Amino acid sequence: MYDYLVVGAGLFGAVFAHEAKKRGKKVLVIDKRDHIAGNIYCEKVEDINVHKYGAHIFHTNDKAVWDYINQFAEFNNYINSPVAVYKDELYNLPFNMNTFSRLWNIKTPAEAKKIIADQIADLNLTEPKNLEEQALSLVGRDVYEKLIKGYTEKQWGRSCTELPAFIIKRLPLRFTFDNNYFNARYQGIPIGGYTPIIEKMLDGIEVLTSTDYFEWIKTNSDKVNKTVFTGQIDQFFDYKLGVLEYRSVRFETEVLDTDNFQGNAVVNYTERSVPYTRIIEHKHFEFGTQPKTVISKEYSSEWKPGIEPYYPVNNEKNNKLYEEYKKLADETPNVIFGGRLGHYKYYDMDKVIDVALAAVKEEFGEN
Ligand code: FAD
Ligand code: UDP
Repeated sequence: MYDYLVVGAGLFGAVFAHEAKKRGKKVLVIDKRDHIAGNIYCEKVEDINVHKYGAHIFHTNDKAVWDYINQFAEFNNYINSPVAVYKDELYNLPFNMNTFSRLWNIKTPAEAKKIIADQIADLNLTEPKNLEEQALSLVGRDVYEKLIKGYTEKQWGRSCTELPAFIIKRLPLRFTFDNNYFNARYQGIPIGGYTPIIEKMLDGIEVLTSTDYFEWIKTNSDKVNKTVFTGQIDQFFDYKLGVLEYRSVRFETEVLDTDNFQGNAVVNYTERSVPYTRIIEHKHFEFGTQPKTVISKEYSSEWKPGIEPYYPVNNEKNNKLYEEYKKLADETPNVIFGGRLGHYKYYDMDKVIDVALAAVKEEFGEN
């Protein structure tokens, strides 16, 4: 008999399992993939840690979360500074004085602010209602047209007027010459990749990979007291209220016979006509000096059953449907939902740790 069945060996599941075991509980972790670590799984190719399900940069302002994750890894001093390619032009990200200077051939914040204000003067954007209005109100028309519109519509498969404003607010906007993609006090890549973090969290805990919950539970429900479910909440309830939308990504990964393909870990292609959104060159996350390199092109698509759901599409329609599922979840005894898919939220890793630790506290009455 297990005190807890944890469905999903990703970050949420691993934190919960680790903390439950620490409190003397008997835990079984299962995952339908053939490996642990969920979307932060890394695999060595040509001696380079390849982020198999997309590039992951750890960043947080939360000291408690930073201290927590540092129990399981040592982080390097990588700072994410992507560049964006639009046609034959190259710009620094996030939107900052380097971007504006290259775009308008200007030098001062006052000049940049004036150009942006002039570009949106007649739009009356006091309360941005969608991503397009939010982006225009922050950075003006040129940046929106060249660096946001095409990328966002590829990434989300929806018009910028149909997307929530919060998505673009993830990116810093600065009137300083600072290319750090995150406004985070703590940032880095775990030396050796992310998989060893999850291995350490799950040390001493029984784990079954290549095991789908919906099959396993048919013959094993008598072995489980409580369940922590980090898969899709709508699938748990057999989609009975409707299907939540997700975006998926196809990663086209190649080994190249050169030591440095693009000179940066992340290069975004912001034009609509380039079919991928970005190219990741994995070695640069760890300042690699290997003779070859590994790159991944990311192609975004709508999720359908059978492929991986990566990004919840948190627009009004889906959030409303999620709230209905949440009510069902709250009425379901002995099941705790968690993580990006279980909470249907566009969480970063630090937030996942935060909500997993909150779930632990609540479960063990430690509030
Ligand atoms: P997951 O890692 O998805 O784990 C859920 C696990 O449950 C999976 O392993 C899945 O196989 C398993 N599962 C699902 N259903 C079942 C079932 N029926 N039976 C058994 N197992 C099941 N965050 C950052 O902080 N920085 C970044 O740079 C960053 N980059 C990202 C880039 C991409 C492309 C994506 C998609 C996400 C990125 N994130 C980033 C977010 C980060 O991946 C998540 O916050 C975090 O990994 C979510 O952890 P999780 O445990 O909730 O989910
Ligand atoms: N974005 C953009 N242009 C870029 C990079 C990002 O318009 O060059 C927008 C896009 O809508 C994206 C959002 O900003 O979905 C958040 O970007 P982030 O890099 O945080 O996306 P993630 O890493 O989660 O895919």
